[in-house]
Formats: sequence, structure tokens, C-alpha cells
Amino acid sequence: MKEEKGENSPFVKFIGTAGARFVVMKQLRSSGGVWLSSGRTHLYIDPGPGALVRCLSSRPRMDPSALDGIVLTHKHLDHSNDVNVMIEAMTEGGFRKKGVLFAPEDALEKDPVVFNYVRGYLENIEILGKNSQYRIGDISFSTALRHKHGVETYGINFTLASHTISFISDTRFFSELPDLYQGEVLVINVVRREPVGDDPIDHLSVEDVKTIVRTAKPKLTVLTHFGMTLTRAKPWEVAAELEKELGVKVIAASDGMKLNLNEV
Ligand SMILES: [Zn+2]
Repeated sequence: MKEEKGENSPFVKFIGTAGARFVVMKQLRSSGGVWLSSGRTHLYIDPGPGALVRCLSSRPRMDPSALDGIVLTHKHLDHSNDVNVMIEAMTEGGFRKKGVLFAPEDALEKDPVVFNYVRGYLENIEILGKNSQYRIGDISFSTALRHKHGVETYGINFTLASHTISFISDTRFFSELPDLYQGEVLVINVVRREPVGDDPIDHLSVEDVKTIVRTAKPKLTVLTHFGMTLTRAKPWEVAAELEKELGVKVIAASDGMKLNLNEV
């Protein structure tokens, strides 16, 4: 495909791959979230602690003023900590009113994570709800069912010009989950090495990933958002084991990893 000025091949850049409290607070991995670009549109997903710093220090440097929008899958701190500063950076300190914030209602209403004064810098705020469609520039996306997580949370199915990519954000496993995310690339937040069982932990484990991948059959599965047990288990080894067992391509994201979607 011929690239026009300002366009680049679609990509996902994992600014951070840390998940849950301990990996984030000790910064064993970065916790910045994900940058998604397609055509002329740049979208940031879940700007956790360090998003701005990691964008500016990445090579090549990622400039948040190029962003068209920010998606919060939910308001937990490891997904939203840098949302205010990223809105400021996207809008050049609020001097250039632009961009759209997509977030669940409870990130904005009760105990909100977005300051009122930065909301005015945005062109628009769209509320993420279940089974809804959204569009920003060259990127369309939809939500599915509300996840089983402590706060209002949604995963996202993105439809780009020539690719589909799904993000399964934080959730406890539930029976409909494997059918909700059909992207050819499936990014899964997998916090736990061992099954969650009856523990009061609203996160996916490696066993849950197997169940999801067997049903969803993505072309590529990318594991990210690693908690302590998974970080210790070496995510790249876990990915290799899964790939062998499931017979499909599985990789573990690393901080700064750029996934060129035309090469998947
Ligand atoms: Zn969470």
C-alpha cells in the first residue's frame, strides 16, 4: 500500500507491560499502556503511571501532541494515572482544543479520575458502554459486555483499514468471554500465572488464556499486563509454552515493543 504523507503502516506500541499493583509500584516493568496508530489516526489506550515519560523517552520518541484520542478501559490507577497529563500533552497544554476521551461513566462521574479543568481541553468526551460502536478518524471500535472487574471495565475490538485487533482488558474469566473478541490479533491482559480459582481476584490467568485462545483462534495472541507471578515466570517462556500447547502463534509483549500489523 502506498503511504501518503502523514500516514504510517498500522502499529501497536507497547509503552508499558506491567499489570496490577506490585509490578507497577516497583516498576519491574513500565506501566505506560499502549499506542495504536492506523492511517492518520493515533490513539492511546490506558495511560498508566509513566505514560508521558515513557513516550518521550522511547526511541523513536512518541509525541503525545500527535494523538487524536485516549481510551480508558477502566479507571484503576495502573490504567489511568497519566490520563490528565496525557490530555494536557495531546492538547499542547490546553492551548489547542482537540481530541476525544473515551471512558466508562464511573471514570468520569463518581470518584472521577479526569480533572474537570482538563475536560475543557478536549473536543469531546464519549462514554464507553456495553455493546457500543465508536469511531475516531481511521479507527473504528466497539465494546462488548461489561467485564467482571472491581470498577466499570470494557475490552475493545478495533477495526482498522486492513486489520482487526482486540484488547481484553482486566477481567475475571466469565463464560461469554471467549466469544467476545474476534480480532485477528488478540492482546490479553494476563496478570496471573496460576488459576484464580475462588480467590477474590478479578484477573485472567494462563489457564483462562488457553480457554479463550482455543475458542477465539486469533492469528496472533499477545500477552501483556503482567502481574508479579507472571513476571517471575518469564512471560516469554510462558508464551512459548502456550504456543507449543495450543499450536497458534503466541508472544509476550515487552516494554517498548512495536508490533507492525502489516507483518503479522
Ligand atoms: Zn484493573
